[in-house]
Amino acid sequence: MAAPVLVGFRRDLRLADHPALQAALATGAPVIPVYVHEEGDDWPPGAASRWWLHHSLAALDADLRARGSRLLLRRGPLDLALAVLREETGAGAVFVSRRVEPAAREAEQRLREALAGRAELRRFAGDGLHPPDRLRTTSGGPYRVFTPFWKALAALPAPEGLAPAPDVLPAPARWPSSLALDELAALPRIDWAAGLRAAWTPGEAGAQAALTRFVADAAADYPDGRDVPGRPGVSRLSPHLHFGEIAPARLWAAVGRVRPAASAEAWRRQLAWRDFARHLLLHFPGTRAEPLDARFQRFPWRDDPAALAAWRRGETGYPLVDAGMRELWATGWMHNRVRMVTASFLAKHLLIDWREGARWFWDTLVDADLANNTLGWQWTAGCGADAAPYFRVFSPAAQARRFDADGAYIRRWVPELSALPDRWLAEPWTAPADTLRTAGITLGRDYPAPIVEHAAARRRALDAWKRLTGKGESA
Ligand code: FAD
Repeated sequence: MAAPVLVGFRRDLRLADHPALQAALATGAPVIPVYVHEEGDDWPPGAASRWWLHHSLAALDADLRARGSRLLLRRGPLDLALAVLREETGAGAVFVSRRVEPAAREAEQRLREALAGRAELRRFAGDGLHPPDRLRTTSGGPYRVFTPFWKALAALPAPEGLAPAPDVLPAPARWPSSLALDELAALPRIDWAAGLRAAWTPGEAGAQAALTRFVADAAADYPDGRDVPGRPGVSRLSPHLHFGEIAPARLWAAVGRVRPAASAEAWRRQLAWRDFARHLLLHFPGTRAEPLDARFQRFPWRDDPAALAAWRRGETGYPLVDAGMRELWATGWMHNRVRMVTASFLAKHLLIDWREGARWFWDTLVDADLANNTLGWQWTAGCGADAAPYFRVFSPAAQARRFDADGAYIRRWVPELSALPDRWLAEPWTAPADTLRTAGITLGRDYPAPIVEHAAARRRALDAWKRLTGKGESA
């Protein structure tokens, strides 16, 4: 029997459209699928991600078993675990998909050294629409602005790598040992995950179902629907994409059939932000901890544990902010429009360092993704690539009136306000006393009074910006 090939699964927990797996099958040798659990880098997976990972690995193992194979589990570091497994199995080659996070790239480098002279190492693309180093500006540098990046990406040939899941995987003569899934201890000890279970189906089948639903029900109206958090107007594919349960190339192809074509284009453009985030993390790896705009290293962030706690708990007194933070806590996900509003509220209204927010999102999001989270936070805080200027401060009330006009989102996540008429839902403290009474609300008892006043907070943020840059609002 030919020497087996090890396929090291990473953020590619699927069987369809999987270049490394396809290449391994093409060798005709037995294939040993393995997942190496690594927690040692500077951004170890948060609690919600670990919950997802557990279920995604279980789904992948079941899918492999249905094809005569199985998923081995080993503990990292990647290089050591795969080098040991190679010795045990006599494998002639190790195939892995590339990742873009700095620690993951260092691990690939160490793996190369560990296997040198012993086995062939092949690394494959597959995490993005295109490899993150594929595009360069005309002067040869990385992009910092999204629109030209998008134009360049849209002009490339369609992303490659589409191939159906194999029917069967050739098994080795003897299976090496594996940890049991529970030994990874990814699930919480105290079961707080009922909300996550109700909201999600981790795994490749769940990802494909989400895509089918989106294409059938929401994609045509995406340009309008994507900004309304109370409507099912977006795909909710982000955790599936993060764990690689579905290939971006598959999404690109599926959405190409959506009509009108402008809707398909709008969604593809949004998907390209994900590639842009990868491109930025590759070229500016320090941004996972430091602002890309170095001026912000001196920004006068405030230390305010009480305000930070109120933000985390969804008790700021601003209904749209609180609805978002509670959706996050309950389901591990938050609508993009509301991510922008809640993040802006932390960095501008509360003047709390965006990194505090990024850490909280990291722990609570099922789609926590170093590239996207870094881009999202730096964009909102005004200190990243192609960022919203710091002096543009979202009004949470105006955002609620515009994007949650019928109050469906706020009523769902802040039920104590549900009897309040639409007119007052964005700013309950402006409602007349008898309206509040009729709705059964005493501010400060049933729902918090605002922890900061919008106009004063906006002024404070603009003053801080002015002190930093010497510029006013038109900077
Ligand atoms: P859709 O609207 O259906 O879009 C499809 C896909 O495109 C998404 O799944 C996502 O992979 C990609 N995408 C869409 N918008 C963006 C964007 N602005 N930036 C990068 N990729 C995008 N996304 C994450 O996946 N992980 C994160 O940790 C994360 N943190 C964020 C933090 C902040 C402060 C902000 C403002 C945004 C963050 N985002 C993050 C981006 C975005 O909010 C989510 O990707 C999106 O809400 C996911 O919902 P969806 O799958 O329904 O998106």
